[in-house]
Amino acid sequence: MDLAAAATHPGRTTPIADRTQLYLDGRWIAPHGTGVIAVEDPTTEQVIAHVPAGDTVDVDRAVAAAKAAFGPWSALAPAERAAHLDRLHTALSARAGDIATTVARELGTPMKIATKVQAGLPLTVLKSYVDMAGQPESTHTVGNSLIVGEPVGVVGAITPWNYPLHQIMAKVAGALAAGCTVVLKPADLTPLVAYLLFDAIDEAGLPPGVANLVTGPGSVVGSAIAAHPDVDLVSFTGSTAVGARISHLAADRIARVALELGGKSANVILADADLRRAVKTGVANAFLNSGQTCTAWTRMLVHRSRYDEALAIAAEAAAGQTLGDPFDEGTRLGPLASAAQRETVRGYIEQGLAAGARLIAGGLDAPVPDRGHFVAATVLADVDPDSVVAQEEIFGPVLVVIPFDSDDEAVAIANNSRYGLAGAVWSGDEDRALAVARRMRTGAVDVNGGAFNPLAPFGGFKQSGIGRELGRHGLAEFLETKAIQR
Ligand code: NAD
Repeated sequence: MDLAAAATHPGRTTPIADRTQLYLDGRWIAPHGTGVIAVEDPTTEQVIAHVPAGDTVDVDRAVAAAKAAFGPWSALAPAERAAHLDRLHTALSARAGDIATTVARELGTPMKIATKVQAGLPLTVLKSYVDMAGQPESTHTVGNSLIVGEPVGVVGAITPWNYPLHQIMAKVAGALAAGCTVVLKPADLTPLVAYLLFDAIDEAGLPPGVANLVTGPGSVVGSAIAAHPDVDLVSFTGSTAVGARISHLAADRIARVALELGGKSANVILADADLRRAVKTGVANAFLNSGQTCTAWTRMLVHRSRYDEALAIAAEAAAGQTLGDPFDEGTRLGPLASAAQRETVRGYIEQGLAAGARLIAGGLDAPVPDRGHFVAATVLADVDPDSVVAQEEIFGPVLVVIPFDSDDEAVAIANNSRYGLAGAVWSGDEDRALAVARRMRTGAVDVNGGAFNPLAPFGGFKQSGIGRELGRHGLAEFLETKAIQR
């Protein structure tokens, strides 16, 4: 890539201002922490802005503000909370274009996906919680008991970089709608979009302390939130390793945790499937956001009778994943989020090939732009289901393909994973596909290309997490259950 051309691309000509403050107790104020985080554009490898690195004092201030705000916020009538969230939706909608370009710059997501998913999806999720917040409190009776859901308290939200605003919104909107208050720590790689959200929160005039922003390193700010005695629920999205660490910190004080973790999802293509559609959709799914998607179907399982045909379609589809600048219209695959991520992904490709996988597309020698953290869309065939590349979450554009001989074997391979976040089944016979879907130990399965539903519960089995986000199930995560006997 021509660096000069990339740096002056129309999408990049507006400079992004450094942010020097945190949002605490309804105001932008100077951090106590003196450090600074440099935010890089992974396409140009240039630093585009800086944000503060807060410290444990900043976390204490944020939690104190959230604790003080909890009483009045949780006591608001549902319609009043909904009105606040609706104003936030208006303020954030006005920033949709800015959100898309900011994520295209700080993460490298191609503009089409940045617009539709990185900016569009959080707005859809926020709107769904405006609607839910406005509905009367749901209660029911069991014998002589009245069962009510009450907000859990102060929520500590810690989020990753791959869908930075969506993951924030699934927590912040759900928590606020339920009557909780929030302290957010966004990912260090992509903090800029969180600032746009808090600009909108400020403009919408949410009551002071209801939502607080502390940027900074996970090991300092994230740990302090997870360990804080006044944080009632730690809602975390990220890697399984950090999720386990957060569980330990929260366990010491029996705080609640909600964990959305990694995945290694299986796309099961039965012999009677519409093969072309199944494989092409599967390839697009695996490479969405450069493969940095927790729900990505990164293991393609194909009936042996259609295996060679499927590999040919997969190779053709992978070749269509044009690498390039996220601001170029023809780009399907942007860079990976960081140099470290690129090296990790390249290491996995090397390991897969060394273990005997067959390279069908991409690979380490495939041409990539000479600037930016790019890896070509890579397809590995004949992969041993127990091998590292079939077991570990690569979080890059690497798809492994594995043959099977029966529905039972397909289910066994799909379930041969410590993860269980998402998956897919394709068959000409929907009942047969549904039967396989029911046997998959995973939080979501799409049958024959069923569309993503932002109101359906989202979350994982096994090491993919604990709890659910989005829709009514997501709201329930922020509620305690109380039984009142009469
Ligand atoms: P990560 O676990 O490294 O970081 C996630 C967040 O935790 C960041 O804000 C980070 O600063 C913070 N953190 C890091 N160390 C911490 C510590 N010791 N204590 C507290 N907080 C700490 O994950 P990542 O690299 O940002 O994101 C990629 C991972 O997220 C992948 O494994 C992916 O599957 C997962 N993910 C899961 C979902 C889901 O919904 N299940 C969605 C997106 C991403």
